[in-house]
Amino acid sequence: MNTKKKYIKTTIILIAALLLLSFGITSCSSEEEEFDLVQQSRFALGTYNQVTVYATEELANEVIDGIFDRVAEIENAMSLNVADSEINQLNEARGEAFVTVSEDTFKLLKRGKEVAEETDGAFNIGIGQLIALWDISGDDPQVPPEEEIDTLFGHFDLNQLELREDTLEARINDPMMTIDLGGIAKGYAVDEAIKVAKDYGIEHAIIDFGGDVYVLGGNPNGNEWRIGITNPIIGEGGVVARIFSSDMSIVSSGDYERYFIENDRRYHHILDPETGFPADNELNSVTIVSDTALDGDIYSTAIFVMGLDKGLAFIESLDSIEGALITKDNDVYVSSGLSERFEMMNESFHWVNE
Ligand code: AMP
Ligand code: MG
Repeated sequence: MNTKKKYIKTTIILIAALLLLSFGITSCSSEEEEFDLVQQSRFALGTYNQVTVYATEELANEVIDGIFDRVAEIENAMSLNVADSEINQLNEARGEAFVTVSEDTFKLLKRGKEVAEETDGAFNIGIGQLIALWDISGDDPQVPPEEEIDTLFGHFDLNQLELREDTLEARINDPMMTIDLGGIAKGYAVDEAIKVAKDYGIEHAIIDFGGDVYVLGGNPNGNEWRIGITNPIIGEGGVVARIFSSDMSIVSSGDYERYFIENDRRYHHILDPETGFPADNELNSVTIVSDTALDGDIYSTAIFVMGLDKGLAFIESLDSIEGALITKDNDVYVSSGLSERFEMMNESFHWVNE
């Protein structure tokens, strides 16, 4: 059967799509059913979200609408940019009342508490005040005065986030603490998008929400997808390497994604809760390969904060994740379980532990 490329609608082309297009969509599946490649990108959760679905055009459009309805639900519950979102309600009631939240939000609050322990505080959803102070994603980000940062230390303790599972209620007991799910919601949304696609019986799809990727099935031509790792050097473009993948998530975090420049210094969006400043170590990019994009989103950010040695050891200590770490010296470190599906694509970078 021929797979036809009939309809491509996209506002931006992300790496995954680029690679998938360049490797062609030319052949067959065992079923006698025709499908098209249908692709759409819509803005939500502060980023461009690209969905690529293989199905008849009619079904694919229905699936894509279903996916973005689900994304809107998640955004309306968790975004700080939605005035009455559950997270804004929770933050506003801090020091005072319990707020009832959806199962989605409750799940991420609970996971956020667990993962702060697990990562020794490197990943902390309780640094909302610090993130707001830097306002890196806002209109006028600036390096905050150190005194202001100092007043926040001691107020990132997630024991102060009280959860009642039976009633889906949450309360922040410390009036100086706020929650920010910016490092976790996107990954969750990717997993939920995949669930929607599967519910419609889709077997091949790529979800790419601002670089948080999940590939469902393999490429319809029978091969695995090849997902590129973005070159973290600003201005260079292209990819460093690619990962052969199917039914897995590939998520990168790096200092090149969102930043501002002040006095010739670049300040990026991943904050080290210990220093109150953007994480500053040998790394400029961390890619995590895992079964869920939620894990990928959490651990890519966490490991970026941990740095090279601690980060690599952390990946090796968990069976559920693999990863590739890139340093500012263009060295690439690949975890033991990933090396077989990893291929370098850029001669300026050097795979150190091959
Ligand atoms: P990502 O782009 O997935 O690496 O996530 C970065 C986003 O997560 C930032 O824009 C913040 O909203 C939030 N964030 C930054 N630093 C941390 C941290 N150390 N722990 C948890 N969330 C963070
Ligand atoms: Mg993340």
